[in-house]
Parts: sequence; C-alpha cells; structure tokens
Amino acid sequence: MGKLAFWAAVGALIYVGMKFLAVSQRRGDAAKRRDAAGRNNSEKMLQCAHCGVHVPSSEALLSGSRVYCCSAHRDADA
Ligand SMILES: [Zn+2]
Repeated sequence: MGKLAFWAAVGALIYVGMKFLAVSQRRGDAAKRRDAAGRNNSEKMLQCAHCGVHVPSSEALLSGSRVYCCSAHRDADA
C-alpha cells in the first residue's frame, strides 16, 4: 500500500507540475499580447490637413509637412 501511495503522490506531482507550466505559459502569452496591444495603442495619431480626421501615423499619408488620411484628400489639397 505504501508503494501505491508513493506512485499516487508522484503522479499528482507530475499533474500539478504540468498544470503549473501550462498556466505560466498562458500568462506569458497574455503578457506578450498585452505588450503588442500597448505598442499599437501608443501609436501617434495625426490629423488630416483636409478633413481633420485623426489617423494612426502608420496609416497617414505625408505630403511635405502636411498629413492626410487618404490620397483623395492629399490630391484635393494639392
Ligand atoms: Zn482627410
């Protein structure tokens, strides 16, 4: 009976260890996703010189020192 209790304890330890690893891995993934989202949220917003709409700097069109939300507004202002 002592042997059975020993192996049951070993099995329980392995089970708990796997659970712990899975949880810590999920937490790491969630933290990475949060970091990525934080970078996106901190992206600079620029105002279109034509219509005044704010667009993320990665989507904005630059024409000299002026910023536009789309090529139509850039062409309309040129
Ligand atoms: Zn615009």
